[in-house]
Amino acid sequence: MTAGYDVAVVGAGIVGLAHALAARRRGKSVIVLERDAQPLGASIRNFGFVTVTGQQAGACWHHARRARDIWAEVAEAAGIEVLQRGLVVAARRPEAEAVVDAFLATDMGAECRRLTRAEALEMNPALTPSGVTAALFSPHELRVESRTALPALIAWLRDGLGVDFRFSCAVNRVAAPQVETTLEVIHAETVIVCPGDDGTTLFAGRIAAREVSRCKLHMLRLRPGASLPLTTPVMSDLGLARYHGYADLPEAAALKARLDREQPAQRANGVHLICVQSADGSLVVGDSHHYGDEVTPFQPAHVDRLILDEFDAVLACPDYRIEERWLGTYAVSPQGWTFTDAPDDATRIVMVTAGCGASTAFSIGEQTLAELYGTKAA
Ligand SMILES: Cc1cc2nc3c(=O)[nH]c(=O)nc-3n(C[C@H](O)[C@H](O)[C@H](O)COP(=O)(O)OP(=O)(O)OC[C@H]3O[C@@H](n4cnc5c(N)ncnc54)[C@H](O)[C@@H]3O)c2cc1C
Repeated sequence: MTAGYDVAVVGAGIVGLAHALAARRRGKSVIVLERDAQPLGASIRNFGFVTVTGQQAGACWHHARRARDIWAEVAEAAGIEVLQRGLVVAARRPEAEAVVDAFLATDMGAECRRLTRAEALEMNPALTPSGVTAALFSPHELRVESRTALPALIAWLRDGLGVDFRFSCAVNRVAAPQVETTLEVIHAETVIVCPGDDGTTLFAGRIAAREVSRCKLHMLRLRPGASLPLTTPVMSDLGLARYHGYADLPEAAALKARLDREQPAQRANGVHLICVQSADGSLVVGDSHHYGDEVTPFQPAHVDRLILDEFDAVLACPDYRIEERWLGTYAVSPQGWTFTDAPDDATRIVMVTAGCGASTAFSIGEQTLAELYGTKAA
């Protein structure tokens, strides 16, 4: 048995790091245990798009608002550049415009607004005129480069806040206060397991009871032939039919029916468009969604083509080359977008079981620590 801590966190993805931060802010001594030499999971494969508008109404949307505020604080403190702010959802069908209007009439639309085509093109000249008839503008979002933001966040937690990390250290068994790893046995008053989409290593039976499986996503990095400043992240009609904050509205039914007729392959492959820009001018473009048994290591080119067809329809970027392709996976469950399970008083399992962990984890971390240690920070 070696070192003793107040809190041990399993997993150095964004969910684990969010819990480490929340625990440290309460004055707890914290260690993070990660089996890989650096985070390699969903948290570095995503868009780095911290999204509020479009998240499912209710708890998810509220968590996203709070998490966005924490991201803003943390980015400044940890030297993480916020590369883009806000969001333009380009609508190009009357049915999509109807969803935009319906969304704006909800509480979640309060600080958002409708743009005409001309206003959308002025706000984001990277859009192509034929790809937008009207748009939804949201001021809430921010975007970071996940593959550099996560290491910067880890460095700040370690060097600035005194969180300990063990990398290349798999946790084989948790029986609080003992945490058995491949390197040593750690002693911790509280253990918070944030395993991403690994439902088989720790607490497999409890995770199986939540019906957790996986979703696989295709991602691309494009290099535009000419400079293409993307002033905000961009989404499109397909996103209005997928993101719950829009898609759960009754007005979305007509849009979904039309998209099923006009873009059946995109719909069947769970394709929608998110396009964000990196500091070097390249564009991160995605994505697709394949569930369960379809989570294989293979990346069929026709799915990438479906994503690019939507990109071509919405962005004024006739000339580009594909610089990178990668796959990502995240956990999904039909029971809800997140869960916290308590195998015993000292142990929590926390999973985000939908594609919104980057947007919600910091707030979930605060909630978990409040539930464990009370609502008043130490
Ligand atoms: C392509 C893609 C795009 C996405 N886009 C967005 C987006 O735009 N906005 C958004 O909010 N979300 C997005 N998401 C979802 C988001 O990335 C995930 O919800 C989030 O990253 C999950 O974080 P996590 O920490 O649970 O998982 P992970 O990042 O996968 O981290 C889990 C970590 O736990 C470690 N681990 C597991 N078991 C053990 C063990 N026994 N011992 C030691 N270590 C262990 C793993 O090695 C891993 O590093 C996207 C996801 C993908 C894949």
